[in-house]
Amino acid sequence: MSLYQNTQYQLETAAKKMKLAEDIRRIVHEPERIVEVNFHIHRDNGELEMIKGFRVQHCTLRGPAKGGIRFHPQVDMEEVKALAGWMTIKCAVMDIPYGGGKGGIIIDSSQLSKRELEHMTRQYIQAIYEVIGPKKDVPAPDVYTNAQIMDWVSDEYRKLTKDKDYLAVVTGKSIANGGSLGRDTATAQGGVYVLLSYLKKLKKDPSKCRVAVQGFGNAGANAASILAKEGYKIIAVSDSQGGILCENGIDLVKMEKCKIKNGTVQKYETATIDCNPKDGVACVCKKITNAELLTLKCDVLVLAALENQITESNAKYIEASIIIELANGPITPMADKILVDKKITVLPDILANAGGVTVSYFEWVQNLKKEKWSAEKVALKLKNKMVKAFSDVDKAKQDFKASDYREAAYILALGRIEKAFREKHRKQKYPQPKKK
Ligand code: NAD
Repeated sequence: MSLYQNTQYQLETAAKKMKLAEDIRRIVHEPERIVEVNFHIHRDNGELEMIKGFRVQHCTLRGPAKGGIRFHPQVDMEEVKALAGWMTIKCAVMDIPYGGGKGGIIIDSSQLSKRELEHMTRQYIQAIYEVIGPKKDVPAPDVYTNAQIMDWVSDEYRKLTKDKDYLAVVTGKSIANGGSLGRDTATAQGGVYVLLSYLKKLKKDPSKCRVAVQGFGNAGANAASILAKEGYKIIAVSDSQGGILCENGIDLVKMEKCKIKNGTVQKYETATIDCNPKDGVACVCKKITNAELLTLKCDVLVLAALENQITESNAKYIEASIIIELANGPITPMADKILVDKKITVLPDILANAGGVTVSYFEWVQNLKKEKWSAEKVALKLKNKMVKAFSDVDKAKQDFKASDYREAAYILALGRIEKAFREKHRKQKYPQPKKK
């Protein structure tokens, strides 16, 4: 199942469960706007290269489209459509006034010089600037894009439009250029708030939780460090080259140093064998494969790498009690069903990784109001938003007898999108369909 089919399946299943009105179901079925652009760049060697880019606005009933720009050699329109749809749902789950959007450029950006990267970003913005804007569509970073690239986006938009609110056209900028404090750790921190809310509901003590983390990048490494500080025992982490298992718990400070120095967590065993043996129990750290990490016996499995990691073929071997999705789409719909049967709780991406877009929203508000919020203010607002979103999803799960938190989150989001749609109708006095 492609990522797009995956989103369509999730949407249709929830729509059926909540008996969503047919008009709104048809509206969210397809993106509102699809833009494909072909533009040229001049390489450092003087050659001209044609580049293809996309921007998709899925649904703007609740506010401007919001979603990242991805630079990747394999990105395509179907993937961008899927990710834009997820953003619509995610923003509605979080109750932030945005719809969903996403963008992409087909490029291996590691092959570009810094000048070429800036030139390509600015050419892309020249190609799409008429469809984006602080009140229309607000991009952000995604795979292989970062704060520096977002700074170029806002600057190019400023040059092209002379919009005085140009900073609010994009989020995830550097702090010096209008970015928000707390954005770099927001996804991980938001996920931890959701996890803590769920454990509180279970009355489970975090310090008794053994955690495995797939993907030791921005989201995964930050989540591991925050969880370790909260008292969780991180027993395993992995990256694209494989993982490390330390039954007594990994020293996250050492692991981060190891990853920075060696480029992989797998060097931890030989680079730093000291993992604080306790109670006279010998410390044993060993290399494991990514497949092994996913099936470890643990309390919490954090998925923070890629999509489609738990599928029909490995779902039956999962031994964690709780899975939290920091990555987008790491569990396929067929695997979801198996996990429900195994009574494994999944805290889904559209809730658990929404901390990033939430702090992006805070950045946008700060830019529009010409304010600068302290790190403490951002952290408190993020906590309140995540805790409230979990509680809303939990309530929807009970009210609609949803089969899992993913279905409940979709139901909550679709209900909010429908409300925005009816409100718009009411204000514009459109003729209403006859009641059957
Ligand atoms: P990242 O590139 O910083 O980290 C990804 C990590 O996953 C890397 O360490 C990489 O080596 C590892 N990895 C790749 N393939 C793997 C595999 N097969 N098994 C184990 N590890 C593997 O990316 P990120 O920003 O941390 O994003 C991770 C996921 O979270 C993505 O799906 C992204 O879309 C999603 N996400 C991130 C944010 C954010 O703010 N960073 C927000 C929302 C969603």
